[in-house]
Amino acid sequence: MTKIKTQLHTLLDAIEKATNRAQRPQQAVQLLAVSKTWPAENLRQAALAGQHCFGENYLQEALTKIAALSDLDLEWHFIGPIQSNKTKDIATHFDWVQSIDRVKIAQRLSNQRPADLEKLNVCIQVNIDNESSKSGVSVDDVLTLAEHVDQLNNLQLRGLMIIPTKTDNLQQQHHSFQKAQKLYLQLASLYPSVDTLSMGMSSDMAIAIAEGSTMVRIGTALFGQRHTPTSQ
Ligand SMILES: *Cc1c(COP(=O)(O)O)cnc(C)c1O
Repeated sequence: MTKIKTQLHTLLDAIEKATNRAQRPQQAVQLLAVSKTWPAENLRQAALAGQHCFGENYLQEALTKIAALSDLDLEWHFIGPIQSNKTKDIATHFDWVQSIDRVKIAQRLSNQRPADLEKLNVCIQVNIDNESSKSGVSVDDVLTLAEHVDQLNNLQLRGLMIIPTKTDNLQQQHHSFQKAQKLYLQLASLYPSVDTLSMGMSSDMAIAIAEGSTMVRIGTALFGQRHTPTSQ
């Protein structure tokens, strides 16, 4: 077995255990493999080991990999900050965008989604801890943005994406994820298309699953420590 295949199995096992411990149904939590900075060959190994969904933060880097892996049937999620001059490529080459935080970007993605593709699945990124430096819409503005997104023809509102404040304080971690889940359940009661609460990374995955995550975004625990410094 390749190292990535071994790590994928270990990770899926850990997700299953955390899901059981939270007394949630099997398959309640999906794995998004976050592959930023890793070459296409590493993603191919994960794909051949059964991984279907990949998350990328940087557009140019992602486009190269999407092209290199076009022989495989993969699902691509854009999870990085979005500049408006990048929306056309994102709308054309991705299946999901998890980092929607303003109306203008949502409108551009909808307008630029090619007509022969299915609706673009989107999550609203929420700045759950109100950090001044963080992207994401504030908790108070989520429902207003959701209303706009829901009216756009070529977008399908699927849920929320959360990156909590980095902290070792377990209670604080639980608290942020609980706040996110409350907001998610409110959104899901308003929009039947909402079924995704994207939260949990390598360091806080089990807590996110305990608090209702339906999709964990994992890079380091699958591919290893990134060598290239990244902004997040
Ligand atoms: C890099 C990144 C991840 C993965 O983080 P790890 O700690 O490597 O698991 C998840 N979500 C987002 C938005 C990221 O940028």
